[in-house]
Parts: sequence; C-alpha cells; structure tokens
Amino acid sequence: MVAPRDEAEVERLVVKEPDSFGRFSPRGLGRAYGDAAQCAGGTVVDCRGLRSVLGLDRQRGTLRAGAGISFDNLLELLVPRGYFLPVTPGTRFVTLGGAIASDIHGKNHHVDGSLSAHLENLRLVAPAGTFDCGPVQHKEEFDATCGGMGLTGVVTEATLRLLPIESSWMVVDTERAADLDSCLSLLSEEASRYRYSVAWVDGLARGRRLGRSVLTRADHALAMDLPVDRRRQPLSYRAPRVVEVPFASPLSLLRPATVSAFNEMWYRKAPSKRETQLQPLATFFYPLDGVGSWNRLYGPRGFTQYQFVVPFGAERALEHALEKLSGGRVASFLAVLKSFGAAGAGHLSFPMEGWTLALDIPLGVPGLPELLDELDVLVADAGGRVYLSKDARLRPDLVPAMYPRLAEWQAVRARLDPAGVMSSDLARRLGLAGPVLPSTRA
Ligand SMILES: Cc1cc2nc3c(=O)[nH]c(=O)nc-3n(C[C@H](O)[C@H](O)[C@H](O)COP(=O)(O)OP(=O)(O)OC[C@H]3O[C@@H](n4cnc5c(N)ncnc54)[C@H](O)[C@@H]3O)c2cc1C
Repeated sequence: MVAPRDEAEVERLVVKEPDSFGRFSPRGLGRAYGDAAQCAGGTVVDCRGLRSVLGLDRQRGTLRAGAGISFDNLLELLVPRGYFLPVTPGTRFVTLGGAIASDIHGKNHHVDGSLSAHLENLRLVAPAGTFDCGPVQHKEEFDATCGGMGLTGVVTEATLRLLPIESSWMVVDTERAADLDSCLSLLSEEASRYRYSVAWVDGLARGRRLGRSVLTRADHALAMDLPVDRRRQPLSYRAPRVVEVPFASPLSLLRPATVSAFNEMWYRKAPSKRETQLQPLATFFYPLDGVGSWNRLYGPRGFTQYQFVVPFGAERALEHALEKLSGGRVASFLAVLKSFGAAGAGHLSFPMEGWTLALDIPLGVPGLPELLDELDVLVADAGGRVYLSKDARLRPDLVPAMYPRLAEWQAVRARLDPAGVMSSDLARRLGLAGPVLPSTRA
C-alpha cells in the first residue's frame, strides 16, 4: 500500500445538501435496528445538520468532520482522493456520530479493531459541559462515549485516521465451507492473510451440514492489480444506484420455504475451491444497500436482528445456537459470521475476541421470543454478549453479565449527565442509566 499524495494541506471539502443524500432519501439514515435511537415521550435530536465542519489533512491522513455526515457522503469525498474509512459497517447509510455511539465494527475487526481505535478526537456536548476527548485527554469520557449509545451526550464532530488506498476496487476470494468446523478453520487462517473477511451461513442447514457457508475474504486492490484500462482512473467511485422495494408485501417473502431454496441456490452457486475476483468497493462492503427499503420484504410483521459474540473456545455455544435456530426453522436469509480481534477501550463497546453471528429473523415464527431468550442465556453463560445497537428485546438482568464494565460506564455517565437528561427507549428498557421499565418483547 503506498502513502497518499504528499500534500501538506488541510483541504476543506464541500458536502452535498442534506436532502440530496445520494440516491437515497434522508429517511434512509437512522440505522440502529432496535430502539437505541428512539425516545418515547422525549425529544430525539436530529444530528444530520452537523455536517459542515470538514477538513482533510493529507499529510497526516486524517479527516475532521461533523458528526451528522453520512458514510455515503464521506465515501464520495474520500475514495477519489485515495482514502477509505478505517472501519465501516455493512451499510453506508449511517452517520459518523451514530457509528461512534455504536463503536461500530467491520469485516476487518480481527486486523483493525473497531471505529474508536481510529479516532483521534471527538467533541462531546454533554449536559455537564463540552469535552474534547480522545484516547489521551478526557479518556474516560471518550471510552464511555464510544459504544455509549448516545447516552453520554451529543457528539458534534470527530477526527479520524483514514486508510490510504490505491484503488476503489477489492480483490475478493470466495469459496464455500461444507460445515461449521471448516468455516471456522478458514476464518481462523484470515489473521495473517486477509484484511476483510466474512462468512454467509446457511442458517437452515442441519446435521452434518450445520454451519455450511460461503466465505468472502478480501483486500484493497493495488493499482497494479487492475486491468490496464482501469489503471488510468483507479480511484474512480460513484455510489451505486439503489433500487427501491416499491411497497410493503402483504406477506413475508422470506419464509422458510423461500429462504431454504435461496440458501441452497446461494451455496451451490459459490465456488467449491477458492476463486479470486475484482469487485467495486460498494459491491463488497454494502451489498444490501443496493435494495432500498429491503425491510419491506419481511411483510407487515417485520423482522428482528440478532447479533451476539462468544469468546474463542466457546465454539460449542456457537454450534448450539445454530442448532437451535435451524431446529426452530428460523429462516434467516442473512446470517453472517465473523471473527473479532481484541476488545477496544469503550466501556460498552460490543466487540470482544471471539466469534460473532448476526441474523435477520422474520417475526411471527412460533416460539421465537422464547428461543431468543434461550439464546441470550446461552450467550451470557458462554461469556459473550448481544449487540445493543441491534437489540430490541434483551432481558435487562443479563446486561451486567454481558457488559461487565457497566458500573464503570454508569459512573462516568453520572458525571457527564447528573440529572439523567440523555435517555432512549433502549436505555430505559435495559435499565442502562436508570430504573428498569417493564420489558417489551419481540
Ligand atoms: C444493513 C445494516 C448493516 C449493519 N452492519 C453493521 C456492521 O457490520 N457493524 C456494526 O457495528 N453495525 C452495523 N449496523 C448497525 C449500525 O452501524 C449502527 O446501528 C449505527 O449506530 C447506526 O448509525 P446511525 O447514524 O444510523 O445512528 P442512529 O440509528 O440514528 O442511532 C444509533 C445510536 O447512535 C446514537 N447517536 C446517533 N448520532 C449520535 C451523535 N451525533 N452523538 C451521540 N450519539 C449519537 C443514537 O442515540 C443511538 O443510540 C448495520 C445496520 C444496518 C441497517
């Protein structure tokens, strides 16, 4: 990887107007799956206006940006200039502030950690005052805010270190794994070989096919990796078109029979031996963004997202979870398995060294709430945790076991917000910062 052009300047970049969020309407932001960004009876702060401060320091490879800017906008500005986001989730329709509040992880956690590892500084406007905090100054406030689910105050801007890239393309290796063991052993070999890796798992496969999966592992393509005709403009980037699902289907299209047929086809279509391909950045990182309002495919009942992590050594718990899900005919069209590297400094940050599985689950499956409750206990007993950013239904009594630094976080939060002004439905449901309300279940 070469360094970006050596220009000792801080470039101010112009961001599009709020109502031209690419081909996507502003309602497309607000991507927490559960109730983290809702506050019944309260006021929700809309941070999308915080997008004017923007400076790219090419010498240091850092970006200072307003917290309301979307990753979609950032990519359009950064990729043609030879930079990529150090960590990105599976959608580009998130804001920088939302990404900090969840301390997001990407397909590169095993190499690069979560977003907070790449932040030099953030400005926090808390009820107790304004703090410029980072890994050195006001570190406690920083650690409480990264992954703090917006409960320590409003992040108004941040400075992050960028990843220099030579091209807007990825070199992607794809192959399939016949069962969970082979999937895990292929994912284990990634640390030394690939920056990005992920496995799509057939959540309906059972018996000796349990955990069969398709792995995609990748690195940024160097200019010399590109065909000659693309080398002239290796960094050209246009956000892909979004095709909208036009209306909500009256029935879920993602039922066990359709999902099972899709999974079979998807698994068979993948190469049995490793194949290498060049893919545009957005195809590799954001496949779901190509379908706008994809949630409508789940019909009027909708879906819930469930993501947990268990430590290395607790593979039996992972296997058990997959057995329970496939046994319960829980038809997850999107089940994604990744490995995480070491945990970061955020008190409530989700990632910890181990295996993480994320699933989109259609609601309405008989026995689903009980099944997910059982999984929560399984995960907690294995020393793991559920991702708060995606949660809508966890039992509050499991939170202290899953997040052992909760009390530490609460102490910092009490200093930043002595009167408990900052809140959310998630915070109240889980008793994160105050008394536990009766829980609402999926
Ligand atoms: C398709 C899809 C794929 C995803 N993939 C991943 C993934 O791979 N990895 C991952 O980690 N996450 C992933 N996510 C989850 C997503 O990254 C997080 O939920 C993220 O927080 C959403 O950001 P947002 O800007 O939409 O914030 P919102 O949904 O608006 O808010 C999320 C949280 O951030 C807080 N917040 C928002 N802005 C600020 C601010 N300025 N200051 C303080 N707090 C603030 C809110 O209070 C809330 O608690 C995915 C989500 C989707 C829909």
